[in-house]
Amino acid sequence: MKAVAKTKRKKGMEFIKVPAPQTGPREALIKVTLASICGTDVHIHDWTPWAQHRFTPPRIIGHEFAGKVEKIGNEVTQVKVGDRVSAESHISCGDCYQCRNGYSEVCKNLRLLGVDHDGAFAEYIALPEHVLWKTDPDIPDKWATIQEPFGNAVDTVLAEDVSAKTVLILGAGPIGLFATGIARASGASLIIVSDPNNYRLNISKKMGAHIALNPGKQDITPIVLEATNNNGIDVVLEFSGNTQALNQGLKVITPGGRVSILGIYERRVNIDLNKDIIFKKIRIYGITGRKVFSTWHKTSRFLSSGLVDPDPTITHQFSLKDYEKGIRLMRDGKCGKVVLKI
Ligand code: NAD
Ligand code: ZN
Repeated sequence: MKAVAKTKRKKGMEFIKVPAPQTGPREALIKVTLASICGTDVHIHDWTPWAQHRFTPPRIIGHEFAGKVEKIGNEVTQVKVGDRVSAESHISCGDCYQCRNGYSEVCKNLRLLGVDHDGAFAEYIALPEHVLWKTDPDIPDKWATIQEPFGNAVDTVLAEDVSAKTVLILGAGPIGLFATGIARASGASLIIVSDPNNYRLNISKKMGAHIALNPGKQDITPIVLEATNNNGIDVVLEFSGNTQALNQGLKVITPGGRVSILGIYERRVNIDLNKDIIFKKIRIYGITGRKVFSTWHKTSRFLSSGLVDPDPTITHQFSLKDYEKGIRLMRDGKCGKVVLKI
């Protein structure tokens, strides 16, 4: 089969031909139809310090995908041949303290698809049945492949209720853009999106942002205060992984407000805990992965019901062999979500 793999401990990747994977008794073999590129894949490609520390080649990469079950192991009961599936990319053990307490997204023995297990940028992928998600028939493959990052956005937005609340979204990458649609569909009364990338700010308008701001060109504080009757914003959702953005959010949040943080920071973050968190009585949620599978149910309903249309965010499609084009666009931020046809 054709696949995209990282084979060497240096920058770049390779388009390779390898045998299709074997399936164990509790695994399914899936024919991948579409996959999509995540920032993690770009880190692995570019061999950033994170990737050097975390990733061991050779490995087929990719963890966002849509596919169809082609074959099942003899102990598989949850899926059958022909089912359309995607997968939870956090492969949990099912046995540890976290897994047995309903926190499998932070499983002690967590294995990441496309990092610790051969990934989805390939014609076939073999996966344990417990991570498979049967895709709703009303969701086309182009949307099915983005269910995984969409789920990150669902949990970040809905860590608490947003209905009739004012929301500031920091970072309009694909996940911040999905979050914009989710916040709008969930009844937020005002959605302000901030990103220095004008291409992405334009998409945020199509996803439901009321106000799109470029923090490189505008001071966002007076604009947020004016839009909220000088009260400050109720909810800050951090998707940029940028320290300045987070501090900006904490400056304009209303006392008693809520922050959810999905963004990942390159370095330790310096925040004024006393002034910006404690004396303002802010609730902070760290978000990682998705709740398995309650988040997938919500994601599925947002998409299948038409409550959120992710199309403006899905900006490019290439064939698998042209994956480099997608990686380049992602690095330059000249895209929303990039999908690969396998
Ligand atoms: P992305 O890198 O495509 O988007 C980040 C956006 O932030 C970019 O558009 C960038 O222009 C913008 N940005 C940079 N500086 C900014 C500033 N000062 N103010 C406002 N915006 C600014 O990322 P993505 O794929 O959309 O993911 C969002 C974040 O979530 C990333 O940090 C990613 O690493 C992280 N992430 C976390 C998890 C998790 O489980 N916790 C999962 C997936 C992604
Ligand atoms: Zn576990």
